[in-house]
Amino acid sequence: MSEDRAAEQLQYIKTEVKRCQVRWTAQRQVIVEHFIANKGHYTVEDFFGAVSVQDSSISMATVYRTLNLLVDIGVAVKRVFGDGPATFEFILNRDHHDHLIDVDSGEIVEFVDEDIERLQQLVAEELGYDLHDHRMILYGRKIKK
Ligand SMILES: [Zn+2]
Repeated sequence: MSEDRAAEQLQYIKTEVKRCQVRWTAQRQVIVEHFIANKGHYTVEDFFGAVSVQDSSISMATVYRTLNLLVDIGVAVKRVFGDGPATFEFILNRDHHDHLIDVDSGEIVEFVDEDIERLQQLVAEELGYDLHDHRMILYGRKIKK
């Protein structure tokens, strides 16, 4: 991702956070910058481990609150895969995708399937609904060849 894009996203998040009457702090900035730069599925502990090295004044509670704030403003999604800990994923300017979890390794595989998307739309319509969102997680074991 280009630096311009990252700066734009940071600016957008800053504005949205302020709109929520939440103070924008140097700690929040470090956390959000790290989040923008690292696409993937991370736990609060993962983030804390990475950002506390950059700024030792950042507490686990601040990381937790900031990530939940990002969920509230719609730029992050919080998901629990299986019985694992909650993970956070940055979704601003990202296309929709679903997930498959390898039950042995815990690896998270992302995928998009047109047929599944279309079928979900159809199911919702048949039930008389306009589909807004969906969460689908597949759990599987790798087939040994
Ligand atoms: Zn994902």
